[in-house]
Amino acid sequence: MEQQVLENQYSSDPYKRICLYCGDSFTAHHGLQRYCPNKYGIVNYCKNQQKQKVNEKNLANLAKEVNKLLEHFQIEEKVENNNHLILEIVFQNTVSKRVKRTRLINMGFDFKDYPARVYNSQGLIVLKYGDFYLDWVEEVDNDLIFKVYK
Ligand SMILES: [Zn+2]
Repeated sequence: MEQQVLENQYSSDPYKRICLYCGDSFTAHHGLQRYCPNKYGIVNYCKNQQKQKVNEKNLANLAKEVNKLLEHFQIEEKVENNNHLILEIVFQNTVSKRVKRTRLINMGFDFKDYPARVYNSQGLIVLKYGDFYLDWVEEVDNDLIFKVYK
């Protein structure tokens, strides 16, 4: 019903329009005009505000997409590289390092997750994480001691 009234208003005065940004009525000077020519004493205020709104919306959408992508990759990276990362922190460019099992577990190390099992020179199983080897060497105070090397 209200829509009809608006349409009737339009047909009675083809130059009278409703601004797409602020909803005020204005008198159009040409057929392409969609916004108030002047608002708060500023020429093209509504048109520029609308443009900015669209740009901000596009930016917000873009940021959302980027965040989604980042989240996706971070999760993938965490799952894939957590053990390797922990070994890197423990190893710190030494030749080989002894580390307690509890320390690794406290750092979030997951012993169930290993990419490969290989054998050391004594024919015993060694876990392999990327370029790192994790070799169980002894048991001390109910804790297992591993040797980490590359
Ligand atoms: Zn306006």
